[in-house]
Amino acid sequence: MTVFSDLQSCFPKQIALRPSGHYAHIITLRIAESYPIFQTDDGLNVARVPIGRVNPQPIDRIAMFLRKQTTPERLRGRELLRKYSPEAMEACRYNDNPCGQCPDCIAYGYAIGDEGAEKSKVFGDMAYSLSGHAISHIVNTLNAPNEGGIMYDPAEGKTSNRINSREYVIPSVIFPSVMTARDLTFPMFCYVLNNLVSNKRYGATTTRTGRMDNEVVAIVVADGEIMSNLALTQAIYDALSAENRWPDDDLVSTAATQEVTSAILPDLIRGSDVQIQIRLMGRDLDDFLNEFREAISQNFEGLVEELYRDVADYRNRLKTKPKKGK
Ligand SMILES: [Zn+2]
Repeated sequence: MTVFSDLQSCFPKQIALRPSGHYAHIITLRIAESYPIFQTDDGLNVARVPIGRVNPQPIDRIAMFLRKQTTPERLRGRELLRKYSPEAMEACRYNDNPCGQCPDCIAYGYAIGDEGAEKSKVFGDMAYSLSGHAISHIVNTLNAPNEGGIMYDPAEGKTSNRINSREYVIPSVIFPSVMTARDLTFPMFCYVLNNLVSNKRYGATTTRTGRMDNEVVAIVVADGEIMSNLALTQAIYDALSAENRWPDDDLVSTAATQEVTSAILPDLIRGSDVQIQIRLMGRDLDDFLNEFREAISQNFEGLVEELYRDVADYRNRLKTKPKKGK
């Protein structure tokens, strides 16, 4: 048995019609590689939270809403579905007019007025910057006036003469994040995982900013939810601080963060009071991800076929499912 087939064997063979306690968690460090913008109105979203679980001192952290994490990942998945199965995706429009029949609608959910809805089977939570807001962002400094005194706005990719007070996350800021796929089959999980590892841009849509890299640090299959993003972020801080590796006025290095995250995860996961079926970290995780990447790159069409088969089977069973109170 390879690690790949070990993990595969932990998944249900069919997408469950009712919640059935299959939780596959992907624990990731989302690392800014350029200048993402997560603002909704005036600035970045900021949350005041305890810095650690041991140290309750408050800190302002940049908040990355769940929608800012899943929307670009869905769009990544949908472009791949469109590439490998164009006819099937013809009718589906994200947000506007979801088809309710494609792998993306079934995995991430949709709602069409009174006509139908599907709860998302992929969920997560707001992610928080590990480092404080004060040292994790810049304001406006990317706007450089040209010879005519006109400001260049890298987010818009064009010149602008308005005074711009845009806030950017700076490179190397880390957002620890747990994404959870519930009651999905292995191919559907692979779809979600591939969206996560292959999507490279987050935040305001632009070609100039927003690069992020998702470093998967663990995959955990359990019968319930494990720790929250906030608890994970706080535990990483506590561990760095205990080892005197927390720089108060600078960003933490990615390497140090990866190292302590791997060290604290086993205890954190154990403390979640759920039964763990499999926990892939370190070399096992690398082996799995290598095999996963190879399978995906060699035969994405095959994965797409499996996705449509799983979704068709799910929808057939859904049609014949007895309705509550009718
Ligand atoms: Zn759809």
